[in-house]
Amino acid sequence: MKECGYCYKTLPDSDFRKQSRKCRECIKVDNRRYYEQNQQSVKAKQQAWREHNPLRLAYAQQADNAAKRGIDWQFTFDSWIKWWGADLEKRGCTTGDLVMARYGDTGPYAHFNCFKSEASANARDGSIKKFGKLFAGGESQNG
Ligand SMILES: [Zn+2]
Repeated sequence: MKECGYCYKTLPDSDFRKQSRKCRECIKVDNRRYYEQNQQSVKAKQQAWREHNPLRLAYAQQADNAAKRGIDWQFTFDSWIKWWGADLEKRGCTTGDLVMARYGDTGPYAHFNCFKSEASANARDGSIKKFGKLFAGGESQNG
């Protein structure tokens, strides 16, 4: 038997990891608390970053979405900004907005393989509907 240095319960040795003063239950509680606190601060940091870097966020989401769809992404942030140019503010997913489309809906996302397409025209193509979600800010999960 051994006394936990944190909850002061006397517990069998099997409730302790080797040489640990903390019982398994206390470790579990601590880990959960640490994770939750950490998660919150990470979320807060992410949120602050999103608010201060809307373009970086849009770029990252688009690149991430391409990766999830198994499509090669060849834009850097700078080349992506350059590609959009003044149309960047028209980027979106509702009718009249512009989306990045690929010629023949095939090949990589790269400056030589992409054109700006109106969101409504693009949405007729089912495969690009998912793409529209991205612009809505929704993080699409598989399925
Ligand atoms: Zn304990």
